[in-house]
Amino acid sequence: MPRAIEILDATVRRIERGEMNALEAIDALLAEELTLRENRRVKMALVMARLSAIKTLAGFDFSFQPSLDKSRIMALAELRFIDRAEVLHLIGPPGTGKSHLSLALAVEAVKAGRSVYFGALADIISALAKAEREGVLCEKIRFFCRFALLIVDEIGYLPVIPGGGNLFFQLVNARYEKGAMILTSNRGFSEWGHVFGDPVVATALLDRLLHHATVIQIEGARYRLREHADLVPENIQSKSLIQPSPIPANSQTSRPAAQKRSEPLVCDDRKVAELADEVKKALAAAPAQRKRLLGDERRWVAERDNQCLLPSQATTAPSPGLAPTPSTKA
Ligand code: ADP
Ligand code: MG
Repeated sequence: MPRAIEILDATVRRIERGEMNALEAIDALLAEELTLRENRRVKMALVMARLSAIKTLAGFDFSFQPSLDKSRIMALAELRFIDRAEVLHLIGPPGTGKSHLSLALAVEAVKAGRSVYFGALADIISALAKAEREGVLCEKIRFFCRFALLIVDEIGYLPVIPGGGNLFFQLVNARYEKGAMILTSNRGFSEWGHVFGDPVVATALLDRLLHHATVIQIEGARYRLREHADLVPENIQSKSLIQPSPIPANSQTSRPAAQKRSEPLVCDDRKVAELADEVKKALAAAPAQRKRLLGDERRWVAERDNQCLLPSQATTAPSPGLAPTPSTKA
């Protein structure tokens, strides 16, 4: 009990001066010791999580992003999405606070005792590619599956290396419905084919990543440039990455134009379901590629079930495939 020993002398002196009784002293010593241990645990877990920076929700200026629904972010900070192994997408132009929010949620998760890993997409894919070259891909996927929350930052900033989309799909597939993820991107989902260099892989990824998902789009100004906004050309200023679905004029949910402009930037469940539908349609529209992907997927699922399965996953239902097959059917 290093901290208790450290403050023992001072505590004894306080007892002698009549400032506390023996019971209070024991209480104080144990509280100090527990605080030290908890701080150490959090510090160690933050190191293990490889966060690029320590950010907090308290340090996020919500007034700078009025379109962002603070209550929704605070609800996410209760971490139920981690327990439900759901996916959170934070989408928006650079500098709008996507990484900050994901890091702040990571800090909350670590404080609450959840294991977290944070990495940029390019780094995660390059780690998977290296593991594949060394014949230890399954071990690497299993490593990334160990964390209750995996944060994949910066999707869309750098081109994905050839084959990288397939590798990332294997990881996403292994975590599907088993572990939570936060993904940050400066690209809309419709651009994922371009980002991953393969529309079929992108579609399969989105099929998994939009199921049980929350999508939060940040459209506001760039925080880093807040004092120099006038210097940013208009064509690269913030714009919507996901077009809100058209609201029929006679619909009961229809709102006046002024209100529509400030439509909450959170994609609701209906929007997510629509996106998932679009993804499925895109899959159906590419039968040849789909066949190839299904072949690949069967192999991956078989490999995962045979070699990569964590002991704790052995009894869970297999991942739903893109089509009902004996090995992949939900
Ligand atoms: P993004 O990931 O969207 O490109 P970041 O989260 O990296 O943007 O934000 C860029 C910098 O600005 C970071 O230092 C971040 O902490 C800060 N920042 C962004 N938005 C806010 C905000 N609303 N309140 C406080 N700091 C912010
Ligand atoms: Mg970022």
